[in-house]
Amino acid sequence: MDCIFCKITSGVIPTNFVAESEHAVAFRDISPRQPVHLLVVPKKHYSDVAELTDNDENLLLEVLKLARQVAAENTDGSFRLTFNTGASAGQTVFHVHAHVTAKAARA
Ligand code: AMP
Ligand code: ZN
Repeated sequence: MDCIFCKITSGVIPTNFVAESEHAVAFRDISPRQPVHLLVVPKKHYSDVAELTDNDENLLLEVLKLARQVAAENTDGSFRLTFNTGASAGQTVFHVHAHVTAKAARA
């Protein structure tokens, strides 16, 4: 298994999850670029959101719902939800993940 997010979601690399659902987890980005910077990652490996959308709409919806939950729990309500897709768009980890970023943490 050569995928870092497969190692994180399966527990091979111990990680503190800020939230978890049946098929997805959320954890803090190791190098945050905003005051709030969380990643929401399905436990099953798909390389990017295009592949996820084409193959598993239910899992895509679960990722979005978990992102919405962690945004509600960790931000003041204003946040960005980003799927970098493709190397030239800035994707560096090729296991689909949503960035939840915000300037203000929940008070
Ligand atoms: P992207 O560039 O959209 O593929 O996002 C990958 C993100 O994963 C980057 O923001 C990295 O900082 C983050 N990242 C890489 N390795 C880890 C890790 N072990 N734990 C948490 N976040 C990570
Ligand atoms: Zn993976």
